[in-house]
Amino acid sequence: MRMVFLGAPGVGKGTQAELAALKFGVPKISTGDLLRAAVVQGTSLGREAKEYMDRGDLVPDQVVIGLVEEKVGAPECTKGFILDGFPRTVPQADRLSELLMAKGQSLDKVVCFLIPREEVVQRLGGRRGCSRCSAVYHVEFVPPKNDGVCDECGKELVQRDDDREETVRSRLSVYEEQTAPLIEYYREKNLLSELNGSGPVDTVQKRLVALLSGP
Ligand code: AMP
Repeated sequence: MRMVFLGAPGVGKGTQAELAALKFGVPKISTGDLLRAAVVQGTSLGREAKEYMDRGDLVPDQVVIGLVEEKVGAPECTKGFILDGFPRTVPQADRLSELLMAKGQSLDKVVCFLIPREEVVQRLGGRRGCSRCSAVYHVEFVPPKNDGVCDECGKELVQRDDDREETVRSRLSVYEEQTAPLIEYYREKNLLSELNGSGPVDTVQKRLVALLSGP
């Protein structure tokens, strides 16, 4: 099972990738998570990436491709993987397919999550994440048991810098310009499945499981 989850920021693909990874027993590879970890660790890659991320721009292709190459080649990915947030440009998609081809592999499916633009803004504006573990909440839709505190580890919840309104707007236009062309790219390769990402997490998960269990 080698899959890509595609869609605008805030569409819920990260949450669904996490759930699907657990259900199907394959790792989720999120370039956003890998980059944020590098930023927290203060590595030189993290320092370079942070400038782009804070502006809502894409980190240069060669940086993210390097991260993904390392992960996809790791032993835990032999059964497959779910890529969340990668590829985001046509050169990244080309590189991914070369990388897999060199190992005699290919992608099985690309799931594109679709939700209306207003819902994206609402979701990102209310999104909060744990400052220690990777748990994600929403002030309205997935609130923690105690305000502002992670259910899993008790640490404070914070808003991602790039979830602030202005950055969200620029992330959405970057998506339209640079990532949305991948929808046609994968449709032409007969790999694309579109999924309605609107509604509660459970509802979307049921749709996703039905899609992935189908023929
Ligand atoms: P995400 O958590 O997937 O929304 O990613 C957060 C930020 O990390 C993005 O706004 C980009 O700045 C950067 N990023 C994540 N994945 C990629 C990628 N595949 N290509 C370029 N930049 C990326």
